Amino acid sequence: MSTARSCDVAVIGAGPAGAVAAALLSRQGYEVEVLERQSFPRFSIGESLLPQCMAFLNDAGMISAVERGGFQLKNGAAFERAGSYTSFDFSDRFSEGWSYTYQVQRARFDKILADEAAKAGAVVHYQCEIETAQFDGDSVRLKFKEADGRTRHIQSRFCLDASGFGKTLARLLGLEVFSSVPQRESIFTHVIDRMKGSDFDRNKILITVHPTYHCVWFWLIPFSDGTASLGVVGPCDFFSRYTGDELQDLQTIIAETGLLGDLMKGAEYHMPVRRISNYASQLSRLHGENFALIGNAGGFLDPVFSSGVTIALKSASLAVKTLDRQLKGESPDWENDYAVPLNVGVETFRHFVSAWYDSSLQDIIFARSPNSRIRQMICSILAGYAWDETNPYVAQPFRRLNALAEACRRQ
Ligand code: FAD
Repeated sequence: MSTARSCDVAVIGAGPAGAVAAALLSRQGYEVEVLERQSFPRFSIGESLLPQCMAFLNDAGMISAVERGGFQLKNGAAFERAGSYTSFDFSDRFSEGWSYTYQVQRARFDKILADEAAKAGAVVHYQCEIETAQFDGDSVRLKFKEADGRTRHIQSRFCLDASGFGKTLARLLGLEVFSSVPQRESIFTHVIDRMKGSDFDRNKILITVHPTYHCVWFWLIPFSDGTASLGVVGPCDFFSRYTGDELQDLQTIIAETGLLGDLMKGAEYHMPVRRISNYASQLSRLHGENFALIGNAGGFLDPVFSSGVTIALKSASLAVKTLDRQLKGESPDWENDYAVPLNVGVETFRHFVSAWYDSSLQDIIFARSPNSRIRQMICSILAGYAWDETNPYVAQPFRRLNALAEACRRQ
């Protein structure tokens, strides 16, 4: 790029939210340029998808490419706490829709999505980091730095910020507010799991609750190539009692569990262990004059129900519908057409996350004699159908979860 370019929509970031938004807009005939800070493939966390994602990937014309990717099928979620084991099968649920999805290595998955966006007509520029944004009435001017250190500009009618934890516009415009979800920390890696031959179900994510500290939990996400993603999440002060390096800490904490500790006895830790903390975020607004925030750039709750990519794709889908009307000369109401409908599912997940950490949802999940209809409703949320307002646990999550937890404890 030598001089300032112009396009209809500039998208910041080529993760799932940016790629899906770019593909949808390009297919509608808009000129879209995506500016991505890194070069792909690159590591990213967020590897367990939810079936609800499949509908958005389908709408964006990406489903065949994803199906061809050879990823590990995912048909449910399993939970273990102090010797109690239970699993949910996504086909036995309340809401309509897909009943399976995939467990994906994000380096490869995100590259597939970005390549599909490019095939749909979007121009994807790698190693271009947005540094500033200027809003001049009817256009947006972004300044970005290229790999060689030179700065360039791009002018667009609208900017979608899909920069994930980079939170580009939130930082530049001071939109971040106090998060109602407490800050937590996670350490994680990929392992060669050596579980072949065991009766472990690779088609499900395994969520393990720490036997002593119920606010600490682990994920095990098997991939199709004999490796798995393995991580632990807990309050930041939980980790301060472990004084080894990251690998030693992860192995020590995993050895404190029963089933997971046993499964991981033969695992080979072949990748660096990473740490991420303080990732919960909330913003004062998700849109403004000629911009909207999608995916994690608009906030993040918690990893426990693997809702991140689903929310990212839902937000891309809703934002594109609203933006299409604006680019056609209408005056959409971004709050009521975008933020409010998106928030329906975000609030459902927020209540589920909160109920997970105060143990009420854990008591529901591990209940000895569950009501099968209610279990289907819970299963729907675990499958990502958090916007289906015919599900009582979407319409009134707080009241319903509290009442159900009480009933489960009385059993
Ligand atoms: P991203 O995937 O983060 O993409 C943003 C892109 O923007 C990046 O490629 C970045 O390089 C680029 N970028 C950033 N700043 C700039 C800039 N200034 N200029 C240009 N480009 C920029 N979600 C799930 O669905 N399932 C899970 O199992 C799951 N596990 C998780 C575990 C942990 C510990 C955490 C913290 C999160 C987890 N998530 C999970 C959440 C998931 O990681 C995110 O929700 C998801 O990646 C969001 O996608 P996105 O497209 O919004 O952002």
